[in-house]
Order: sequence, then C-alpha cells, then structure tokens
Amino acid sequence: SKAALFDAESKVKITFADVAGLDEAKEEVKEIVDFLKTPSKFTKLGGKIPKGALLVGPPGTGKTLLAKAVAGEAGVPFFSLSGSDFVEMFVGVGAARVRDLFKQAKEKAPCIVFIDEIDAIGRSRGRGQLPGANDERENTLNSLLVEMDGFATDSGVIILAATNRPDVLDSALLRPGRFDRQISIDKPDIVGREAIFKVHLKPIKLDPSLDPKKLAAQTPGFAGAEIANVCNEAALIAARRDKKAVDMQDFQDAIDRVIGGLEKKNKIIL
Ligand code: ATP
Repeated sequence: SKAALFDAESKVKITFADVAGLDEAKEEVKEIVDFLKTPSKFTKLGGKIPKGALLVGPPGTGKTLLAKAVAGEAGVPFFSLSGSDFVEMFVGVGAARVRDLFKQAKEKAPCIVFIDEIDAIGRSRGRGQLPGANDERENTLNSLLVEMDGFATDSGVIILAATNRPDVLDSALLRPGRFDRQISIDKPDIVGREAIFKVHLKPIKLDPSLDPKKLAAQTPGFAGAEIANVCNEAALIAARRDKKAVDMQDFQDAIDRVIGGLEKKNKIIL
C-alpha cells in the first residue's frame, strides 16, 4: 500500500522543557542540536559530524519525545518511521521506503530522521523472527546501511534510532560512521518521576493539597508514558465524580487502574 510511507513534521513544537528528568541524555543530545544548528563550527577543524545515535531504553521512557525535542530545539523537520511497520512487508517495499525517506530527508536537511524500534529491521542477520519475512527484513536493513554510508557527514541529516534490545542489533549498524553513539534512557527514579508528574500535571485543575512528591513515591517502576496516563485518568475520574478539581483520591484510583492495566498486559505476555 502507498499509505503512510513515513511521517514528516516540518514544524516540531516539542522542546527540552517537555522532557522531564533524563538529564544526562539531554546533555548528550544537546550536542546534536548544536551540530544541526551550526555544523560549520564543528567541521572547520576537519572533524566529521556523527551520522546517528542510538537511544536505548525500555518502552515509554521518552525516547521518541527526546528525539522530537532535538528537532524542536534545532528548529528542523522530523521524519520518522517505525521498524515494526516493516515486518511482513512485500518484497522490495521496505527497501524502497527507506530510500524514499532518505531522499526526502536530504532535500529538507538539516533534519532529524527517527527510526523507532530499529531492532525490528536491525536484528543481526540469521537471527530470524518470522521465516520468509526474513529476506525482506535483510533487504530493508541493507538499504538502511547503504543509505547511511551514502550520505556525507555534512549533509545535515542526523539519524536517531530507538531500541530496547540493543543486544540483538546487527553489529554492522553499530560500526563507526553509523550508530556509533549510544545514549541510555532509563526508567525514572523517584526524582525523575516527580519531574515527569510536574510536566503532566500542568494542564490539570488540581486540588491545592495535591503533592507531586507523594505521587512519585506511589509509582515505583512507572515509565513516563504510564505517568502521563495516570494524570489523564485522574482528570477523567474527577470529572466523572463532578469535582471542581482533581484530588489525591482521584490520583490513587487512577494509579490503581494503571497498575491493573499493566498487570493484565504482563499476563498476556507471560
Ligand atoms: P516506546 O519505546 O514505547 O516507543 P518511548 O520511549 O519512545 O516509548 P515516548 O513515546 O517518547 O516513549 O513516551 C510516551 C509518552 O510518555 C510521551 O509522549 C510523554 O507524554 C510521556 N513521557 C515519557 N517520558 C517522559 C519524560 N521523560 N518526560 C515527560 N513525559 C514523558
């Protein structure tokens, strides 16, 4: 099908202010923002700007958000696709899609290309998932490698890719000149969770007694995506109860609901 070749956002509104915690990761990607904004500053002494970096961490921890924020901070377009879209694709389609993406990206440079779930196409060769789907996945991976090698480091295209399985990636992807930088994005600790709560509490009408520190203490193991979910659920629960503001009881119920959802999901996986 011709639909949804990849996503392109020309004006990204997300900035680092939308990404809570992740201080070290933010420091590292700030460098990439500088490469995009003033490439000549870095190349004038003969240095080569890196082509890509790998964001490594569990689901829902803000990898996509951070990649978008890089584009937002640099004021450049954001192209994205997900490796999982390439699974079970017809012969030649994946490779053609990768070529199309890079063609457009080069035209719109400077820009960010984001590949979510890169492990779905970048699994080491021979380590198959679905028999038959494998050859096409290898074609797609090869075309990605060819594209990465084919553009100059001063082309202004920087590729960010996300994975929670760096261990299964084909070593060809990690070679110098490809994804030779890894940035780890971990689940937030209590301080990180409080910061993420503060971002997602902003649009919500809160009871003055509400304490983000307590919310952070009650959500061990939660990733940012789950915290965002809790805040939204709490607002909906309070509204259903015809309250004027969202209070701790609403949050407690929202946390229970999100934990219940996670337990169900885990049961299905087991
Ligand atoms: P996946 O691997 O499942 O694609 P991801 O790591 O890319 O997950 P995101 O899609 O970036 O995670 O996060 C989902 C949502 O969770 C974000 O849009 C945001 O609302 C919230 N979120 C996650 N991490 C953070 C964070 N550090 N600060 C603020 N919000 C966050």
